[in-house]
Order: sequence, then C-alpha cells, then structure tokens
Amino acid sequence: MKQWPGSYCDTSSGCCYPSYGKPPSDFDIHGLWPNYNNGSYPSNCDPNNPFDLSKIQDLVTSLRPNWASLACPSSDSTSFWQHEWEKHGTCSETILDEHSYFQDALNLKSMTNLLSCLKSANISPNGGSYTLTSIKNAISACIGHVPWIECNKDASGRYQLYQVYICVDHSGTTLIDCPVFPTGACGSSIIFPTF
Ligand code: AMP
Repeated sequence: MKQWPGSYCDTSSGCCYPSYGKPPSDFDIHGLWPNYNNGSYPSNCDPNNPFDLSKIQDLVTSLRPNWASLACPSSDSTSFWQHEWEKHGTCSETILDEHSYFQDALNLKSMTNLLSCLKSANISPNGGSYTLTSIKNAISACIGHVPWIECNKDASGRYQLYQVYICVDHSGTTLIDCPVFPTGACGSSIIFPTF
C-alpha cells in the first residue's frame, strides 16, 4: 500500500517530517499487508518474532526516504517499520522473513512509479481537483491492474488522494488483480495536494 505524503500532512492534525528531513515528493510505502481473499486480514501473528533493526541495517538508507513516518512527534521512522512488521509482516513470516519483507516492499515500490503514471495522464500534485475515475484509469493503464484509491479529508473537509492499494500474489512479487476491494469513501472529484 502506497501513500501520498501530502495528503497525510494536509489534514487538521498535520504531520511531522522525520528527524532525517522531509521525504521526497513521491508516493511512499505504508506497508505490505498479507490479506485473505475475502478482504479480511490476520494481524500481530507472532509475538516471538519482534522487529529487529539489526536485521535490516543494509536497507535503512533506502527505507528512510521510501517508507517514512510522518507521525508526530518527529522520529527516525523505525517505530513505524516496527509497527508494520509486527502487525502485518509477522503474518507472512514463513514466506518473507524480516529482511525479505522490507526488501520486497522496496522492490514493489520501484516496480510501480505511481507519480509518473499519474503525471503522464496530466495528473499532478498541484492542489488541483481530479476525477476519481481519471486517477484510477491512469494507474490501471500504467500498471495493468485496477488500484483501490483511499481518500482522507483536508482541513476544510474536501476529499483528497490519500492511499493507493495494489495487490500482489502470495509470493509478494507479482502484481495481480485484487480479489476484493476494501470499502471507503471518496468523492467523484478529489484533490491531489502538493508536498
Ligand atoms: P496499519 O496499523 O498498518 O493498518 O496502519 C495504520 C496506522 O499507520 C495508523 O496508526 C496510522 O496513523 C499510521 N500511519 C499511516 N501513515 C503513516 C505515516 N506516513 N507515518 C506514520 N504513521 C502512519
């Protein structure tokens, strides 16, 4: 699942950039989530396999800009990675161990350049309003699969492009059509805020 950082920040609660600086103006990773085919998902599957930063030392330089925490107070993002590994990652630990989980998420991110998909359809993070259909169509045409778009609301209550769900197969390597889509609200027209 990918997230537009501008929309995380552009709410009444705001955000805090990581201690190592503002992340790039690009979609970043929220998490890689093992789901059941009916859309529900297991969580916190193995308390005996807690997050261990030392196992992913070689990935930290890539994770920082690509999987940045925007929560307040400002942090070095490790608590966000810990949360995602323990809540979601441990549920597919037999397929992806901790290092593979983070490596796989980084690989998936580089497989799908959502910002360039949107830009090639003249959809840019400029604070403008775009139809939900045009956003979905641009991403579908570019990656070959229909994404699910999640919106949040800016401080004035307007829907904006918040997160993009893209599904992968059991191995975590191949994009697939999502078996089900989550439910949630977006207007027919949504804002794509700057970042
Ligand atoms: P999850 O628990 O993995 O389903 O994700 C939801 C949690 O992640 C919530 O607590 C969110 O507030 C948090 N979250 C979402 N995006 C970010 C972000 N960019 N930085 C830090 N926390 C986030």
